[in-house]
Amino acid sequence: MAGEPQSDCLFCKIVAGEVPATIVRESETTVAFRDINPQAPTHVLVIPKAHHADAAALAAAEPGIAADVLREAGEIAAQENVRGSGYRVVFNTGSGAGQTVFHAHAHVLGGRGLEWPPG
Ligand code: 5GP
Ligand code: ZN
Repeated sequence: MAGEPQSDCLFCKIVAGEVPATIVRESETTVAFRDINPQAPTHVLVIPKAHHADAAALAAAEPGIAADVLREAGEIAAQENVRGSGYRVVFNTGSGAGQTVFHAHAHVLGGRGLEWPPG
């Protein structure tokens, strides 16, 4: 069921503490942790604790939690001192766009120049 933990989901396991992660921030509804394969000096993933396959599904089912993810992404940028220099919040959606974990997550990327358009 949407929102319930999925036994085969890596990020649900991180939420449950069953898979270790370097957690940098947590709220009632979200967890933020460092990406295991960072693509920039700051590369943090912000996820809802509830399981939804992608950002659109999250926003449709629990818009308040989608807002929490966005707010936390901004707080991470401040915490990581990239708010001033600029940062990017990315939701890869669908395998064609590079989504590999089907539990909604925002990538917060910063600390280097970020090209536009992205690849
Ligand atoms: P996606 O490709 O779905 O947009 O993003 C998934 C992200 O999760 C990737 O950037 C990948 O490096 C990261 N990732 C995959 N497995 C793990 C893990 O076990 N721990 C952490 N911290 N990040 C992971
Ligand atoms: Zn999940």
